[in-house]
Amino acid sequence: MWRRRRVRKKKPVSRHYQAHKELARGIIHERLEHWSGFYGLTYNRVAIKNQKTCWGSCSEHGNLNFNYKIVFLPEPLMDYVIVHELCHLYELNHSPAFWAHVARAMPDYKAQRSHLRKMTHIPAHGFPSSSAARAMLD
Ligand SMILES: [Zn+2]
Repeated sequence: MWRRRRVRKKKPVSRHYQAHKELARGIIHERLEHWSGFYGLTYNRVAIKNQKTCWGSCSEHGNLNFNYKIVFLPEPLMDYVIVHELCHLYELNHSPAFWAHVARAMPDYKAQRSHLRKMTHIPAHGFPSSSAARAMLD
């Protein structure tokens, strides 16, 4: 009896991601240095990802993940995503204490937050759907 070997199809890596990943890494690191200096925070690893459903995330080990597409957002929105994830190093939740940390760097964060939620498309690279974009930040 023989068994056919199941070859796992690799997920194709998007060409846009390939072409912009290092650019995104450079920009994100630069902004991270700026904002972590502001807060006096240190973070662990930073990963630049190509995700459909998330702008950024922060793990309990202090690892930060960012969607490379944030560098195509207007700058205040990109900064908001970075500040948001950095503040998860204080609080891994969205409690009032968390938002108070965000507000220290960004008193107008509510405007950025609602702008980001309404974002349905990013210049240079469209998003799949508005509902996906709305649920992306965590
Ligand atoms: Zn969050």
